[in-house]
Amino acid sequence: MHAVVEHAVDEIIDGLDAAWDANIAKGAVSAGEAGLRVRLAHCGVSRADLAALSTAFLEERRAQAKRVLGPSPYNDAEVQFLFLPIPGSVAAVYPLRDSFAVVVSLGLVEALRLCSIAGRLQSALERIEHSAKVESALGEERFRYVCQLFKRMCAFINASAVLCHLDGGKVPNFASRLDAATRHRADVLLEAGLMFVLLHELGHVRYRRALLERGVNADDVQWEFTVPENLDERKTEELFADRFALDAVSHNFRLTLTHASCLLLQLYTCVDTLQHRNKREHPLSVNRLQAMQSYAGVAQGYDVGQTALNAAIKFGERLWKDSAAGSAKTGLDALKRFVGAHSQFDWRPISDALLILDARQEGDDARAGNHA
Ligand SMILES: [Zn+2]
Repeated sequence: MHAVVEHAVDEIIDGLDAAWDANIAKGAVSAGEAGLRVRLAHCGVSRADLAALSTAFLEERRAQAKRVLGPSPYNDAEVQFLFLPIPGSVAAVYPLRDSFAVVVSLGLVEALRLCSIAGRLQSALERIEHSAKVESALGEERFRYVCQLFKRMCAFINASAVLCHLDGGKVPNFASRLDAATRHRADVLLEAGLMFVLLHELGHVRYRRALLERGVNADDVQWEFTVPENLDERKTEELFADRFALDAVSHNFRLTLTHASCLLLQLYTCVDTLQHRNKREHPLSVNRLQAMQSYAGVAQGYDVGQTALNAAIKFGERLWKDSAAGSAKTGLDALKRFVGAHSQFDWRPISDALLILDARQEGDDARAGNHA
């Protein structure tokens, strides 16, 4: 995969733009009503800017992935990569005249960043809830309040991620409110999430090539955020692309990558449920997580990932059951009201609790070291 060069930008955008309009007509693509060219014109970026942004994005992902994927990650000469600096989530793959295009938007990265922060806060909450030391530092009443606030903040960030994914609205800057350790953990998870996205898209390319070699028509655009009518075909291709991503990493890293895939797949679950798609089927994203989890197997010493993964699967199943039973409390309007009501909330007690938690841990490690 290589970043698009300036003179090839138009071909990629034309291919996506036509499909974008067609999909908008079917109400299948989430990101807004305006055509892609209109959106890009609003952003004021030139072809040269798009080529430079795509190069920078891909180089950064390559540098980050080298440790896991070897010296030349995402190495497929016949795939062109385009990064779109627009709000709303886009991830798509489709054939060009003599290569394939993979397209990812800034809105998707921001939505995944929010999911990764919420995931890390959820893990921190589990540690805090079992920390007698934090409880004694805060006092019983304050401790209970902070635990409730944590849950509220996780729900708020997850809801913001869904809105960012669907609406491409203003993205709240949660990262700046976190302590350095939590921010770092969220960045690491986000990076693994982006690795999953890029590998998964290359998995689609591999699948499409095999179809084309067999003479099967495979020239439509594969949007990541749609559930086409022919679910069986889609399911096979998605599961293939997920397996392709897991096969690209070492056995030890598979569970980490599966954990990171939750960032994307939880968004799917929420959005599918919100839009009441595909009601009779079990949600594809939960099936995918389960398939990846059983393929990844158990990794020693990765309890956080395992716990998060189990929670994501349970979350998907519960949301789906509620939705099928008509008892889901989270319609899009309700979600917007919830986010609006919490946008001015004072979350500072959470940062304070995280600082106590990590400071305490450093002390614990020192003490454990002294005893060793
Ligand atoms: Zn896919």
